[in-house]
Amino acid sequence: MAFEACSVCGGMILFGAQFVGSEPCCPRCRPKAELLRDIKQVEASYKAALAQLKASPTSADLRERALDLGRKYAARTRAAAGQGNITIFDEVALANDLQAACAAAAAANPSGNENDIERRLRRLAELRDKKLISEQEFSERRQQILSEL
Ligand SMILES: [Zn+2]
Repeated sequence: MAFEACSVCGGMILFGAQFVGSEPCCPRCRPKAELLRDIKQVEASYKAALAQLKASPTSADLRERALDLGRKYAARTRAAAGQGNITIFDEVALANDLQAACAAAAAANPSGNENDIERRLRRLAELRDKKLISEQEFSERRQQILSEL
């Protein structure tokens, strides 16, 4: 029979192969294999929560969930630091992920455009109030802005 290679240390498993999920490992490496598998699972849940947040960036619940899973993922990568090829995921990376998820969607969100129109109308009214543009210029520009809605 063929010997299997440990998925953690890469060594041949001569006696008592253990399985964590479908990954074989030697008994010595079992705790590490379980930790690595756990990290992968938490990472996957976190990425899924992040994708959901991206789809509805204004949802406080989804943000909370992504943050919570991100912290769990960060805690596990810290615990596993230096083992296997685990990259530390920290609070900064988490904050960046959350910001990116919300920013990308905000740019594509039509309500962002509405805010922009509101801002331009207000600015236009200011110019008129300060007598920097005439009443006629004001209504022309106002029509232009509103036609973008
Ligand atoms: Zn091993």
